[in-house]
Parts: sequence; C-alpha cells; structure tokens
Amino acid sequence: MKVHQFDVVVVGAGGAGLMAGLYASRSAKTAVISKLYPTRSHTGAAQGGIGAALGNMEEDRVEWHTYDTVKGSDYLGDQDAIAFMCEQAPEIVYELEHMGLPFNRTPEGRIAQRPFGGHTNNETGKPVRRACYAADRTGHMILQTLYQQCVKNNVTFFDEFQVIDLILSNGAAAGVVALELATGELHVFHAKAVVFATGGYGRVWEITTNAYANTGDGIAIALRRGIPAEDMEFFQFHPTGIYRMGILITEGVRGEGGVLINDKGERFMDRYAPHVKDLASRDVVSRAMYLEMREGRGIGGKRYLYLDVRPETVNKYAAIDGRTNPDGTPYTVTAEQILAKLPDIIDFCRTYLGVDPVTQPMPVQPTAHYAMGGIPTNIYGEVVIDEKNTVMPGMYAAGECACVSVHGANRLGTNSLLDIVVFGKQAGIRAAEFANGADFQPLPDDALDYTRSQLDGLRHGSGKENAFTIATELKTVMFDHVGVFRTEEGMSQALEKIRELKERFKDVRVSDTGKVFNTELLNAWEVSNLLDIAEVTTACALNRKESRGAHAHEDYPKRDDENWLKHTLVWQRDGKLEIGYKPVTITRFQPKERVY
Ligand SMILES: Cc1cc2nc3c(=O)[nH]c(=O)nc-3n(C[C@H](O)[C@H](O)[C@H](O)COP(=O)(O)OP(=O)(O)OC[C@H]3O[C@@H](n4cnc5c(N)ncnc54)[C@H](O)[C@@H]3O)c2cc1C
Repeated sequence: MKVHQFDVVVVGAGGAGLMAGLYASRSAKTAVISKLYPTRSHTGAAQGGIGAALGNMEEDRVEWHTYDTVKGSDYLGDQDAIAFMCEQAPEIVYELEHMGLPFNRTPEGRIAQRPFGGHTNNETGKPVRRACYAADRTGHMILQTLYQQCVKNNVTFFDEFQVIDLILSNGAAAGVVALELATGELHVFHAKAVVFATGGYGRVWEITTNAYANTGDGIAIALRRGIPAEDMEFFQFHPTGIYRMGILITEGVRGEGGVLINDKGERFMDRYAPHVKDLASRDVVSRAMYLEMREGRGIGGKRYLYLDVRPETVNKYAAIDGRTNPDGTPYTVTAEQILAKLPDIIDFCRTYLGVDPVTQPMPVQPTAHYAMGGIPTNIYGEVVIDEKNTVMPGMYAAGECACVSVHGANRLGTNSLLDIVVFGKQAGIRAAEFANGADFQPLPDDALDYTRSQLDGLRHGSGKENAFTIATELKTVMFDHVGVFRTEEGMSQALEKIRELKERFKDVRVSDTGKVFNTELLNAWEVSNLLDIAEVTTACALNRKESRGAHAHEDYPKRDDENWLKHTLVWQRDGKLEIGYKPVTITRFQPKERVY
C-alpha cells in the first residue's frame, strides 16, 4: 500500500475538477486524481455553449438569465444559488477567455453568442443569444484550456487512478482510496480536504449521450459512506439524440434555426410551445416528442422524429417566425454557414448515420443526458449532509455529481458548463482555505478494508452471474420505466427488478485475475454503482407524487406546490433507503405556471 499526503485531493479531472484543482493549487498542495486521462473527461463532449448574459449580440441581463433558470428548474432550484451562478457568469467567461479559450467571435471581435432552449428576453418572451461557444466543441476547449492552466500551475495529476472509497475520520473527510489501473495497486491519499468532481451517471439508461465512464462513482461512494443524495428523481432526457445510438445532437442546431418535424411533415413544436417553439426547455420538448410518437406520428410509425437543419427548412421557418439578425435584417443561413458553425455534428451524422445534415434531415429520439441530482452542497461547494444543511468538515463536491441546487427539476442548456466552472472554482478556493487552517485527521487503521472487501467480492463470487448482462438488463428497465414518462406501475416493476439484479450481482465473478489494467474488475465495480444509483433514482421517483420538470408522472400529471415544493434527500442506511426533505430557497420569484 502506498500513502500520499496532500492538502487538497480532487477526484475528477473534468471541467469541475480542473477548475477546483487550479484554484486550490494556488494556495495549497493539491492532487487531481482521475480514472480517465484528464482530457478524455466527458466535459470534452459538450458541444453547444456556456451561458452568460454578456449582451454581445443584443440586449441581455443577468436578471433575465436568473429568472429563466428558476423557471426552467420548474421552481425547484434554490434561487440564492441560481442568482449567484448567473451573476458570476460574465466574469468567469471572460476569465476563461483570458486563459486562452478560443471562443467564436462577432465581426467586431467580441465573444459570439447563440440562442439556446429556455433562454429568453424576459420582456418580449423571444429567445435571446446567451450561449458563448467555440463552434460545437465548447466543452473540448474548456477542458484543454483548464488542463493547460493546471499543468502550468504544477497541480500533481494521478491519471488512470480509480477512486473506490472515501476515508472519513472523526466525522470529517480524511482522504480517498484509489486503485492504480496500470499496476492494480491500492493507494491511500491522505488529505485535509477532498473535492468530489466525478461527473454524471447517464450510463444507468440504455440510450444515452453519456460516455462509458459516466457511472456515478462519486455519488455511489458518498452514499455508502452515509452522505445523502439530493433530488435524484430528476434526470434530464435531451430531445435530440441520434436514433438508437443516443449520441447528442446539440441544441445549438435548433439555436441556429433547425426544427423538429414529424411523419406528416409538420413542425409540431408550435403546438406545444407557441412562443419559443423548438427552443422550449428540454423536458417540454422531450415530452412533446414522446406524445407525437405515441400518437403514431413518429417517422414511418417508428420511435424517432426528424431534426431538420437544411438551409431551405431553416430559412422557411425563420421567415414564418419573423426571426431577425441583430441588425434587424431577416435571418437566413447558407449551407456554408451551417457547416462552419456545426462542423462536429455534421461529421458525426456523416460518420455514424451516412446522413448529410446539409441535405437530409437527421433521425433523432430523446436520450438520457444529465443528472440534476447529486451530492448536496451549498454555494461554496461544501457538502451538506442533512435537512438543516449541516456541513461535513473537509468534504466538497462540484459539477454534475453535485446538487447545489441550481438546476432544480430541469437544467437549461449551457448552464452545466457554467455550473462546473463557477462551483468548481468555489470548491477549490474553499477547500484550500479549509486545508490551510486545519490539521490532518488521523488515518483509520482499517482505511483499506472496505475497498478490499468490495473488490474481493467481485474476484471470488460464485460466477453464476455476469456484470455485463446485469448492466444490460438494468439499462433496459430504466429506459422503459424510469424515463421521460413514468407511471406508478412501471416504476414499481423497475424497483423490483433493480432489487433482483442487486441480489444477482452478489454472484458476479470477474474472469480476469490479473493486476495490470484489469478493466473488467473496475467495470464490474462500476455496475455496482449503476445499481445503487438506479435504486435511489427509482425510489425517489416513486415517492414524488407530482409532475415537475423532468419528472413526468402520468398518474399525477400536475405540479403540486402545496405538497411537493421541496427537495428530496435520500440516505442508504444498512442497505435500506431512507427519504427526507429540505425546503427550496425562494427569494424573488414566486412559483407560477410555466408557459413557453
Ligand atoms: C454529449 C454531451 C454534450 C453536452 N453539452 C453541453 C453543453 O453544450 N453545455 C452545457 O452546459 N452542458 C453540456 N453538457 C453537460 C456537461 O458537459 C456536463 O454536465 C459537465 O461537463 C460535467 O462536468 P464534470 O466536471 O462534472 O464531470 P466530467 O467532465 O464528466 O468529469 C468527471 C471526471 O471524474 C473522473 N472520475 C469519475 N469517477 C471517478 C473515480 N471513481 N475515480 C477517479 N476519477 C473518477 C473522470 O475521470 C473525469 O475526469 C453535455 C453533456 C454531454 C454528455
């Protein structure tokens, strides 16, 4: 066993982890541990943009961004946290620019901005250009920029180290246990402060935009160590995944004027969201697509629709909508402009589908995309462990694995890249401050035991079961019953199935007995995380008897503020789940019906 000591240990090297690592390293000895090579983190897949009310293309205001986010969250987001994030947004986008991030530019040289779902001019109700972007590779550019800054700042990286457990000592975070992929050796990282930035868990579902690595490790580890998870019933389905594959087609396509079309050739979103149409928030668009398909208007009766960004279609509907350029002239696009603004999307479609979006519509279906829920934190990234927001000393979380909560029941596009940099920075600053004023907690003698018992279980199980089969069955049941629309009956069936799969998982044995790059062992361990996360997601979804944001419960189709305007907290105690609640922070905006 190797033991390392750092003031601050950050787990995860996506946008949130790198931002935390960068800021912590300015005043504390900092390590960033990542199961992936840092620049392979899922942040690198983010396409469309990062939201900030810069007002570079037209009038925009921080208050409008704040209100849109509150409304998009279906009033479940904490308004103090949302206001904080939206206020920080312009400054942090300029900070990224000054670090060297190559944003697209306006002809005057300012950062260019595009429209995105749910972002509006609050006075006219029309979409506003708020998403700052680097073509359709915004996340890739954020990741590269932050990684370079971390290297420059001498952050110590432990690449391809997978964290399996969190070490607690005297009720405080004291470090983590990680397995080094190349050797199979276990390492203890003894730290004064620990930041979890382990990303999302879209891999719980069959069709997803998420990378293979998005298995919710951080949340599962925290649950096993007594830390609750918040609002796990809210998981976002993105309207436009490539049919059957789930690969994301950015909302930026609709921002540039693309429209959704059904089998009858109708642009149906004007029936569901008469004001913003195809740019309604994602929960609204995904539900509209399901309803169209359910009523037999999927293409050829199948479970997909068309996303059409051909210049003639864009120009036709831009004229119908009266869309204009910032200078007031009618909005039109050419094939060259589409190619220049959406190069990666065009490339994906040509490669994976043999479809050329400039001349053909793209077949799309809703796809599991983003976790609104996660490890509860306050706006400083401090992990809070109960209804009273009691802080766990030395423990921080940021990014998609955390729940601040700025996204409430539904996240607006471009607000996650914003969330990861804003709260990654806060967590880094606060973790370093805490570490500089604290001593190391003693390492418990049994620090490695729990990790060993989990891995030994997988090495020595009866072998009657296979982790891959269990994961496949899990993903199917989650996609069918805990997806865009949910029913009491479907969710109950799913929960029963998940519990059966958890029992069967005890009989898994991995066939690779080696130590070097034993990815089979780690993938099997990740399946245990998927199972735990699916269980809490489904239990919390069954428990919430209303429809709000991404949680559309067919037996309770209305939002019920009287009984359910509250956050869910869930704990895993002695193998059983316990559910509690926490009030939503409401400052300026009283809940009202969402109209798009
Ligand atoms: C295809 C796609 C497109 C998107 N587009 C946009 C967009 O345009 N705008 C927007 O705002 N949002 C977008 N999002 C959402 C956004 O990109 C993510 O929510 C965000 O990047 C998550 O960042 P993160 O730092 O929290 O996690 P990630 O970038 O996922 O990083 C997680 C890190 O944790 C590490 N890790 C995980 N588990 C362990 C472990 N056990 N041990 C060690 N390390 C571990 C991984 O190695 C990785 O480095 C998109 C998401 C997807 C999937």
